[in-house]
Amino acid sequence: MKRKSTLLSLSEGTDPVKSKGNVTLPASVFRLVVEQSALAISITDSKANILYANSAFQRVTGYTPEEIIGCNESILSYQMTPKSVYDTLWAQISHQQPWNGILVNRHKAGHCYLADLTITPIMDNEGRTVYYLGMHRDVTEMHRLERQVQNQKALIESVVASAQVAIVLLDEQEQVILDNQAYQKLNGDFGQELAHYLLTVLRAQLGADFESAWRDKHNISIQEVRYDWPDRTPRWFSCSLSWFEEQDPSIDAFFVPRRQPYLLMVIQEVTALKRQQEDIRMNGLRMLLAEQERIQSLRELLLGVLYQLEGPLNVFSAAQRLLGRCEKPVVQNHYL
Ligand code: FAD
Repeated sequence: MKRKSTLLSLSEGTDPVKSKGNVTLPASVFRLVVEQSALAISITDSKANILYANSAFQRVTGYTPEEIIGCNESILSYQMTPKSVYDTLWAQISHQQPWNGILVNRHKAGHCYLADLTITPIMDNEGRTVYYLGMHRDVTEMHRLERQVQNQKALIESVVASAQVAIVLLDEQEQVILDNQAYQKLNGDFGQELAHYLLTVLRAQLGADFESAWRDKHNISIQEVRYDWPDRTPRWFSCSLSWFEEQDPSIDAFFVPRRQPYLLMVIQEVTALKRQQEDIRMNGLRMLLAEQERIQSLRELLLGVLYQLEGPLNVFSAAQRLLGRCEKPVVQNHYL
C-alpha cells in the first residue's frame, strides 16, 4: 500500500501545526532537539570557529559553552592525529561532502579520548558553505574492548597455529571450519580427513555413549584410537572432543539469540608412547620367563643332587639294618 508522505516544516509558534497531513514544527523544537541530544554537537563557521555547543559537548569535552564559544575546534586536538587525516577531512568538507572518522581529542582535564566525529557542511540558499555541523561521541571504551577482542583473537590464533597437538574445529555437519598446522601435517601423512576417520572409529568404539554425547553436546575425554595401515605398523592417536557454542552474528538473531555448536577435536599422536609401553610389557614378560626358567633349572639341579645322595643313604641304611641284626640291644628303646 502506498503511504502518504508527511511534510515537515518550521513555524514561528510553539505548538506543532497540522494541516492536510502536513506537520509544521516550531523552530524552537529543533533547538530543543539539538540541545538535548546525547551526541556532542557543535556548530562552527567556515573556519571551524565554534558558534554553538550543546550540553553533551560539555559532558564529552569538559568545556562549558562559555569557555568554548569563539575557540577553534583545533583546541580539541591532542596533536596525535596524523596531519593527513585533517587534510582529508578538510578536503572533503571543503567540497561540501560530509566527513566521518576517528580523531584523538584532548579533554579539558588534559587526558585524551577517541572521538568518532561526523562533520556536515551546512549550505545557504546560494549553495555556499556557511556553517559546519560537528557531532561526536567518546568511543574510547568501545575501541579498548575492540582491541582487546582483536588481541585475544590473535593470541588464540597464534597459540592454536603453533600448538604441537593437532587441533581441528568442525561444525555439526562435520565440515572442517578451522585447523592448525599440526593437523594439516597429519592429514598430509594420511591423505584423508583424519578427523572423519577418528570420529568413525570413536562411534564404533563408544557406541551408544558416543551418540548420546553427540546429541546432548557433552564432551568426550581422552580416547585412544588405532589407525591401521595396509602393510605398515599401526599408529595410535589420543583424542578428546569438546563442544562450544558461537552466537549467531546475523541481524535477525539480534533479539532472539541463536547458537551454533562447534566440535573441537584435540588430537595427539601417541604411537611412540604406545611402542614404549609395548616394549616395557615385552621386557617384563621376557624377565618373567627367564625367572621361571631359572627356577626350573634350580629345581632340576636339586633333584639331581637328591638323586646323587640317595645311593650312599641307601648303603648306610642297609648297613644299619645289618648291624641291628648282629647286636642285641641292652635296653629296648620303644622310640626306635
Ligand atoms: P590546522 O592548521 O587547524 O589544520 C590542519 C590541516 O587541516 C591543514 O594543513 C589544512 O589542510 C586543513 N585545514 C585546517 N583549516 C582549514 C580550513 N579552514 N580550510 C581548509 N583546510 C583547512 N579537530 C579535532 O582535533 N578534534 C575535533 O573534535 C574536531 N572537530 C571539528 C569539528 C568541526 C565542525 C570542524 C569544521 C573541524 C573540526 N576539527 C576537529 C578540525 C580542526 O578544525 C582542526 O583542523 C584540527 O583540529 C587540526 O588542528 P591543527 O591546529 O593541528 O591544524
